[in-house]
Amino acid sequence: MQERSDQGGCVPEGLTVEVTSTISRMRGTDHALPRCAALTGVVGKHAACGIYEWRPSPCREFAAGSEACERARLRRGLAPYPW
Ligand code: SF4
Repeated sequence: MQERSDQGGCVPEGLTVEVTSTISRMRGTDHALPRCAALTGVVGKHAACGIYEWRPSPCREFAAGSEACERARLRRGLAPYPW
């Protein structure tokens, strides 16, 4: 399934970078300290996805409190996910 807007999907193409003909990533997510171009606000204080309704499938599948979530929080110096 194509997810970018220029391919019939909902994810704004301008916020993505094409990696291969079939794979794209969100702009900014390949930086040493990643920050998605769609992210608004200040990480650790008040942040939100600016394209929440149109976010791509990996974002929809990312679970709060998962191992990946905890690794991401640790990289940003944040405490473990609050349960
Ligand atoms: S949920 Fe939104 S802000 Fe977070 S990585 Fe996905 S598109 Fe970017």
